[in-house]
Amino acid sequence: MAEFALIDLIRARCAVAREDVRLGIGDDAALLAVPAGQMLAVSTDTLVSGVHFPKDTAPFDIGWKSLAVNLSDLAAMGATPAWATLALTLPDADAAWTAAFVDGFAALAREFDLALVGGDTTQGPLSITVTVHGFVPESLALRRSGAKVGDAVFVTGTLGDAAAGLALLQGPGVAGKAQEHLLARLNRPTPRVAQGLLLRARAHACIDVSDGLVADLGHICHASAVGAEIDLTLLPASPALLGLVAAEARVSLQLAGGDDYELCFSAAPAIAIELLNDLARSGCAATRIGRIVAEPGVRVRAVDGSLVASPRPGWEHFSP
Ligand code: ADP
Ligand code: MG
Repeated sequence: MAEFALIDLIRARCAVAREDVRLGIGDDAALLAVPAGQMLAVSTDTLVSGVHFPKDTAPFDIGWKSLAVNLSDLAAMGATPAWATLALTLPDADAAWTAAFVDGFAALAREFDLALVGGDTTQGPLSITVTVHGFVPESLALRRSGAKVGDAVFVTGTLGDAAAGLALLQGPGVAGKAQEHLLARLNRPTPRVAQGLLLRARAHACIDVSDGLVADLGHICHASAVGAEIDLTLLPASPALLGLVAAEARVSLQLAGGDDYELCFSAAPAIAIELLNDLARSGCAATRIGRIVAEPGVRVRAVDGSLVASPRPGWEHFSP
């Protein structure tokens, strides 16, 4: 299959019509109308085979995940998704592989009414770069920099599942309901878009947890010139993680495991109950896990208040 046949295949399998797309795939650039009064929130993420997903990951899952990780960044800004571009580098023009990949991408695009408006298709080692565009009124955008001393710290969903799923893949074999749950969390993360919208004008700071809780909360602290304390016993765990992973390993997955794509945010303690109720009603409950303090850095406390040794930091490319 040649380049243009591949592009036709991609366009046909990911058709989402939006009134604000005045010109989509097919010309030298897309023409898009940003609603009056809104900022355009733009984010890019690349997934490289063997680095961001195991080489034998199903193409549907790769397509899903390549959009999900990008939507997660929009969620963390409190933005509503609208458009995406897709730069696809493929080792060969495999129509079946590409169709399954686009089906995974399109399943999530339809769920969020997101239009694929352009991209690029090239030959080389498998790599996927997605750029997403969303809308947010400037004054409502969630940033990393607004955390205040005295804020409560929260996280949506559960932590450590995706990292446990990856460990399962690297282990002896996978069978059973709990294992399936962890693998689904690794391969088909759910971007917390609705929850990000609920946090607008309520959270003081927000980030999506892609590299591990301690590392990503550390980014909020750095940007806000504050510190944070996390209570180990409050960290949310899925029944699957509780059932399959012994306590010590579980805690390190919850603190430092990547790829969960939950939202970590800070907000005034006075609105905690109302916020938690609204989030639970949205279909993804959140948990209060700690507090913002003046002393820089992220510290983890055991149930008796003693400090727990910090886990290894989150994933970083190029680190020795
Ligand atoms: P150009 O040579 O002008 O860069 P291309 O031949 O690369 O154009 O692409 C033709 C059209 O197809 C453009 O509108 C481009 O945005 C779109 N396109 C190419 N690859 C993809 C892709 N992987 N996903 C979505 N749209 C794509
Ligand atoms: Mg091109």
